[in-house]
Amino acid sequence: MSANSYLFHSDSMTPSLHIGIAGAGLLGRLLAWRLARAGHAVQVFDAAIGPGPVFRSQAPDVGHVPTAAGFTAAGMLSPIAELDNAEPAVAALGWRSIELWRQIVAALPTPQPLLSVQGSMLLAHRGDAGAAQRVLDRLAHAARSPEWPGGHGAATALPMDGLRQLEPAIQGPAQAWLLPGEGHIDTVATMTALHADAPGVRWHWGAPVARVQAGEGGAALFLANGRVVAFDAAIDVRGVGAGRLAPSPLWGEGGGEGPAALVGLTPLAPTPTLPQRRRELPHPSPLLQAREGPMPVRGVRGEIIGLDCPGHGLTRPVRLLHPRHRVYIVPRSPARLLVGASEIESEDRSPVSLRSAVELMAAAHSVLPALAEARIVRLDVNLRPALPDNNPRIVHTRGTLAINGLFRHGWLLAPALVEQALQQTGWALPMTAPTELA
Ligand SMILES: Cc1cc2nc3c(=O)[nH]c(=O)nc-3n(C[C@H](O)[C@H](O)[C@H](O)COP(=O)(O)OP(=O)(O)OC[C@H]3O[C@@H](n4cnc5c(N)ncnc54)[C@H](O)[C@@H]3O)c2cc1C
Repeated sequence: MSANSYLFHSDSMTPSLHIGIAGAGLLGRLLAWRLARAGHAVQVFDAAIGPGPVFRSQAPDVGHVPTAAGFTAAGMLSPIAELDNAEPAVAALGWRSIELWRQIVAALPTPQPLLSVQGSMLLAHRGDAGAAQRVLDRLAHAARSPEWPGGHGAATALPMDGLRQLEPAIQGPAQAWLLPGEGHIDTVATMTALHADAPGVRWHWGAPVARVQAGEGGAALFLANGRVVAFDAAIDVRGVGAGRLAPSPLWGEGGGEGPAALVGLTPLAPTPTLPQRRRELPHPSPLLQAREGPMPVRGVRGEIIGLDCPGHGLTRPVRLLHPRHRVYIVPRSPARLLVGASEIESEDRSPVSLRSAVELMAAAHSVLPALAEARIVRLDVNLRPALPDNNPRIVHTRGTLAINGLFRHGWLLAPALVEQALQQTGWALPMTAPTELA
């Protein structure tokens, strides 16, 4: 059996289930894609008006238009740099995710490359050398934790001529480090491809879910319009929307018209037995054990800027140490870049502030002079779903599964979390065994 064959064949050991998913964001699309390939009948319900993104600068006046944070994200895959923001056990999941992303994007039929793994850069101006050293000390300390897997590289100081060789477009920083093995993924193209390539999945848009609940022999999605849809198993991956139902002017009275196709589905005959098999996880984390109870999710505001700058010359993601922001520049194509991102403890979804825009763009321009003539094509805002300890959580009860709290590293963690969750539930086999590291 080839390494990728699990991606194309039904998991013959897993009985086919009717599975309902609340949320078609990053986790929802990955789950639908994987579960459909495992031979399950999957339906996905989302509050958004359709499968594509609605960026904040496209909808400045209509209030909250639900759109997944997964679309807004820059798609940095940074297990080393995220050690500054996440516990080592959480950041360590990122290495497995990068391996899984390689397999997933290889299976997606898209014309453009979705993933790039060539390392990333950490830069500091002369005045920020002290702050840079403190960050590097924290990264080195976290990488000595027993939960951090061996065999992966660490931040490596680059002499200025080494930096010029790797990224000639960068000018101005006094210090640079290469973070080997880090990468970035095209978030919008990957979300679009996961949606387009999920065989037989039924997607319901404008269908906010108020509650996901286990029941006798199965589980149900309670839609905001009062309808209840029964399944063998139900999954809650509503991100920030799992906290409370944010009203949108796009939904009718009671939260959404509800797709007509839904009527005939209520209720599906529940399957009396759910698979009880739970397998040992290949690399279980004490942070991710199933816990009962509601998820007290909050939103953390993030602002990001899309730039058009043909010939910018950047090939790797770049982080610049900055007194107020964790500034990064991510090349999206030879003509497009993203500059992000603020991190503000607020659920305010109003448009990007002048202060954030000026600070982020000035910082980016200070290391990439080509940005002087860049054109601003997108100003976007979204909320990162976070739990009180800023760690992700998988909660599996009989018939239901919830995953939330992916915070600022959802793209870094999602494939590994989905893999762990599906192993816990027994609903799908792991995609492939983790690669042995030299
Ligand atoms: C500015 C910014 C930059 C980021 N950059 C990165 C990065 O570089 N790297 C990285 O790893 N991560 C990054 N992230 C984080 C990442 O985007 C999130 O962690 C990830 O999207 C969370 O995935 P999710 O599926 O839980 O939520 P989402 O992707 O937000 O999806 C939730 C879905 O649920 C739907 N929904 C909400 N309420 C309801 C309801 N009541 N009923 C039905 N559906 C509902 C929403 O419409 C949405 O489609 C960034 C986030 C932001 C905001």
